[in-house]
Amino acid sequence: MVIVGGGPVGAALALSLHGSGLSVTVLEARADTASNDRRSLALSYGSRLILERLGAWDRISPLTSIETIHVSQRGGFGRALLRAADAHVPALGYVAPYGAVHRALAESLRLRRDIALLHGARAVHVDSDVDSAVVHYELQGQSETVPTRLAVLADGGALALQAASQRSHSYRQSAVIANVTTDRPHRNRAFERFAVDGPIALLPAGDHYALIWTTQPAIAEQLCGLDAAAFLERLQAHFGDRAGRFTSVDGRATFALSRRVAGAPTQKHMVLLGNAAQTLHPVAGQGLNLGLRDVWELAEKILSQPKDLGSADFCSAFHASRRGDRTASVLLTDALVRGFSNNLAPLRWLRGCGLTMLDSLPPAKRGFIDRMMFGA
Ligand SMILES: Cc1cc2nc3c(=O)[nH]c(=O)nc-3n(C[C@H](O)[C@H](O)[C@H](O)COP(=O)(O)OP(=O)(O)OC[C@H]3O[C@@H](n4cnc5c(N)ncnc54)[C@H](O)[C@@H]3O)c2cc1C
Repeated sequence: MVIVGGGPVGAALALSLHGSGLSVTVLEARADTASNDRRSLALSYGSRLILERLGAWDRISPLTSIETIHVSQRGGFGRALLRAADAHVPALGYVAPYGAVHRALAESLRLRRDIALLHGARAVHVDSDVDSAVVHYELQGQSETVPTRLAVLADGGALALQAASQRSHSYRQSAVIANVTTDRPHRNRAFERFAVDGPIALLPAGDHYALIWTTQPAIAEQLCGLDAAAFLERLQAHFGDRAGRFTSVDGRATFALSRRVAGAPTQKHMVLLGNAAQTLHPVAGQGLNLGLRDVWELAEKILSQPKDLGSADFCSAFHASRRGDRTASVLLTDALVRGFSNNLAPLRWLRGCGLTMLDSLPPAKRGFIDRMMFGA
C-alpha cells in the first residue's frame, strides 16, 4: 500500500496498519517532521480515543483540555454553554498545535519498523490499470515509481484534483490565527462567537488562547499588518470582554477558507482521505476530526478484507461508507457559516432562539455535543 502524504491523516492511517503484515509506504513531501504551520487544532474526544488506540496520544505536547464552550452571536441575544459534564466525558475536546500533532504521529511511526516513511518524497502523478496503481514521485531530484494495490491520497488536496471531480465554494473569508493572552485565566473555557463577517473562536491553549478570527480577506490582511496594540484594540471591540482584556498577541498568520468536496476517484485502486477528500471551514473544528474518522473506517476495512484491498468493490464500498458522515459534516459546517452570516433582524432573532433552546434543552445539547465528538 502507498499513502501519499504523511500529514496527520496519512500518518494516522499508516500507524493503524502497523502489524497487519501489509507492506506500507508513506510518501511525505516535507524533508522532516518539523512543521512551521502555526494553526492550533481542536481535537474531539472521539479523536482522542482514536489517537490513543494508535499509541500517539501521549506523545502530543502541549495539549490543553476544553471543559466548557461558550457560544454566542454578536449583536443579538442568546447564548449556549456546553459543558463536558453534559456529555459525561472528561473534556469536550483538546487543543494542540498542528506541529505537535504531526510530530507525535511521525515519531510513533518511526518506531514501527514495518512501515516505510520517506521524507522529501513528493508524489507527482498516479497511474492505474486493471491490476494495480503506480505512484510516480520525486526524491532527491530523482524520478521514482512504486506500484501498489491501493494508493491512498492523503496529501491535503492537490493530487486529488487530478484524480476526482471536485465541488468547490469560496467563502470569501480568511482566517487570522494568533496566540493571544487576556488578563483572566481561561479555566479551560473555549469561546465561539458568530458575527456577520465570520465566526471568531478562542481556544484555551497552555497559558493563552489560540485565536481563529474569520473575516473578509482584505480585512484579514489589514489585521495582520496592524501593530500589536492596534490589533488588540480591534479584537477587543469585535469580541467584547467576556474573556477579559486582551493583553498580548503573537504568531499572526492568515489562511484562505473554502469548501472543497471531492467525488469518488475516477482512477482505479485509489481512495481519498482527510483534506484530500474534503476541506471544510474551520468554524466547527471538524476537518481533522472527520479525517481521523475516515482513517478509522478505512483501517477497519483493510484489516477485515485484506484480500480485496484496492479492488473496485473495496474502493466504492469505502467511499459509500463515508458518505453519510462526510455529507453531514459539510452540511453542518456550511449551515453554521451561512446561517450566521446574515444580519436580518428576524434571522438574528431565530438564531437567538436556537442558541437559547440549545442551552436549555438537555437532549438537544447532548445530541449536538455527541455529533461534534463522534460524527454522524
Ligand atoms: C485555520 C484552520 C484551523 C483549523 N482548525 C481545526 C480544528 O480546530 N480541528 C480540526 O479537526 N481541524 C481543523 N482544521 C482542519 C485541519 O487542519 C485539516 O483538516 C487537517 O490538517 C487535514 O489533515 P491532512 O493530513 O488530511 O492534510 P494536511 O494537514 O494538509 O497534510 C497533508 C500532508 O501531505 C503532504 N503532501 C502534500 N502534497 C504531497 C505530495 N504531492 N506528495 C507527498 N506528500 C504531500 C504535506 O506535506 C502534508 O504533510 C483547521 C484548518 C485551518 C485552516
